[in-house]
Amino acid sequence: MPESTTRRGFLGAGAAAGVGLALPGSAAAKRPKRRRAVEVAVVGAGFAGLTAARDLARAGHDVVVLEARNRVGGRTLNHRLGSGEISELGGEYIGPTQDRILALARSVGVSTFATYNDGLDVLYAGGQRSTYAANPGLPNDPDVQQAVSVIPHLDQMAAEVPVDAPWKARRAAEWDATTLEAFKLANIPSVKGRAIFDAATRAIWGAEASELSLLYVLFYIAAAGNASTKGSFFRLIGVAGGAQESRFVGGSQRVAQEVARRLGSRVLLSAPVRRIEAARRGVTVHADGHTVHARRVIVAVPPVLCASIHFAPGLPAQRHQLAHHVPPGNLQKWQLSYDRPFWREAGLSGQAVADIGPANTTFDNSPPGGSPGVIFGFVGGDAARRAPASARGRRDALIANLALYFGEQARSPREYFEMDWTQEAWTRGCPVGHFPAGALRAYGPALRQPTGRIHWAGTETATYWNGYMDGAVRSGERAATEVARALRLKRP
Ligand code: FAD
Repeated sequence: MPESTTRRGFLGAGAAAGVGLALPGSAAAKRPKRRRAVEVAVVGAGFAGLTAARDLARAGHDVVVLEARNRVGGRTLNHRLGSGEISELGGEYIGPTQDRILALARSVGVSTFATYNDGLDVLYAGGQRSTYAANPGLPNDPDVQQAVSVIPHLDQMAAEVPVDAPWKARRAAEWDATTLEAFKLANIPSVKGRAIFDAATRAIWGAEASELSLLYVLFYIAAAGNASTKGSFFRLIGVAGGAQESRFVGGSQRVAQEVARRLGSRVLLSAPVRRIEAARRGVTVHADGHTVHARRVIVAVPPVLCASIHFAPGLPAQRHQLAHHVPPGNLQKWQLSYDRPFWREAGLSGQAVADIGPANTTFDNSPPGGSPGVIFGFVGGDAARRAPASARGRRDALIANLALYFGEQARSPREYFEMDWTQEAWTRGCPVGHFPAGALRAYGPALRQPTGRIHWAGTETATYWNGYMDGAVRSGERAATEVARALRLKRP
C-alpha cells in the first residue's frame, strides 16, 4: 500500500513540477554525467532547499538544486483521492506565527483554509468515551486536566531556553541529562493523564517521551513562536490559535511544486547526491547523472541522511556524528475516506484523543468543500512500531478506533490510504529528527555551523518552528543569506 500510494504521488508531483526526468536513481546513475558550474548548488528540494534556491535565484545568482526523488516537496506529499480531491500524507498544517511558510505560499498563489474544528472533540480514556468543546479543545476529565496543568510549567522552563542556542540555557546540562519521560513521571501522577500526555508526544514527535531530551523538548516549545511571540506548548498541540489551525488549498506539496515550477530547469530530479568534495576554489557535487562544480553548497537534507553522503575531506567529528544522534521519529497518518463526513452530522469535530491505539489522536482531513469525508489517525512512536504488519490489519485497527470514537458509520469507508515514511529511502522517518538525552549539548552546536564551503539547511537546523514546514523555510532563508554574505553576493 505505501508503495503504490507513493508511486502515484511521485508521478503526479513530477508532472506538476514540470521539471526533470522521472527516472529512478539507478538508471540516472548509468547515464553519462552532465557537468555544469554554478555559484551555488543546493542538495534537496524540500521546503528548505527550494527556499534557499529561490532566494538566491531571485537575487540573480546562478543556482542548481539536486533532488534525489523524482518529485519535489520532501516530507510533504499530496495524495489524490478516487474522487480527484487532494489529501496529504506528510506535513500539512500551518498556524499563527508560522509567518515564513505563509509568506512563501502567498507569493506563489497558494491560499489557506481553516481546519475543521466545529462541535465536540472526543476523549476516550479508561474505557470511557466523553466529549468536550473543540474550541478551546481542552478535555474536562480531572486526570487529563492534571496532565494539562503541567503545560504552563513547561512553558515557563522553555522561556529560559534561547532558540538559537538551547545548549546555552542556564540549566542546559541538567535538562539535557534527563528525558521528557522523567518529567512526566514526576509531574503527572495518574495513569490516564500520563497516557493522554503520551498521545500528544507521539503526535508531535512520532516518538515516546523516553526518547526525548527534556532540554530538546523545552527548545521545541520555545521555538513554537516567532521573534515577537513567545513559544508555547499549546501552540504545538492546538487547532484554533495553534499549529493545526489551517491547511493549504490543493495540499501543502503544491507550495513546493509552485516554487519548483518557477525555478524551472534549475531543479534536477532523480539526482541523488552521493559525494561532496572540496575542489580548487569551490566544491564538486557528484550526483547520479550530474557533476556540479559550485563555489558553495547548501545541504538541505535531514541529518540522518547526511550520513549517506560521502564528504571529502571528511566532516569534523561533531558534525559527522550529528547524523547518528538525531534519529527521525516514526509518525504515520492512517486515513479513511467516507461518502460524507458523518461525524460532522453528529456534531463532532472528527478530533479525538485516546489512551488506546494505534490511533491515539485523529483529525478531520476532508478537502475544503467537506466532500468526501476524510479522517486520519496519527500513529506514532511505539504505536507505529507495534502496528499490524499488513495494510489490511492497519486499516481494520483504524476502523475499530474510529467506530469507538465516532460511531458505527466508521465501519463503511470508501478508501484507505497511508504512508510509512520510515520506508522512504530519502526521508527515513518523520516528522522531525529529534535529540535524545545528552545529544543536544553534545552535537547541537554543529547544526548550523558551516563546514568550509558547505552550509546546512533543513527544518532540523531551524530556530523558530524547528520540525515544521515553517522552520524548513526559515532555514533555507538563513542559508541563502549566509552563502550570499560569504560570497559577497547581493543579499537575497
Ligand atoms: P525534507 O522535506 O525532508 O526535504 C529534504 C529533501 O532532500 C527531500 O526532497 C529528499 O528527497 C532530498 N534528499 C535527501 N537526501 C538526498 C540526497 N543525498 N541527494 C539529493 N536529495 C536528497 N510540518 C508542518 O509544518 N505541519 C504539519 O502538519 C506536519 N505534519 C507532518 C506529518 C508527517 C507525517 C510528516 C512526514 C511531516 C510533518 N511535518 C509537518 C514536518 C514537515 O513536513 C517537515 O518539517 C518539512 O517538510 C521538512 O522540510 P525540509 O526541506 O527540511 O526537509
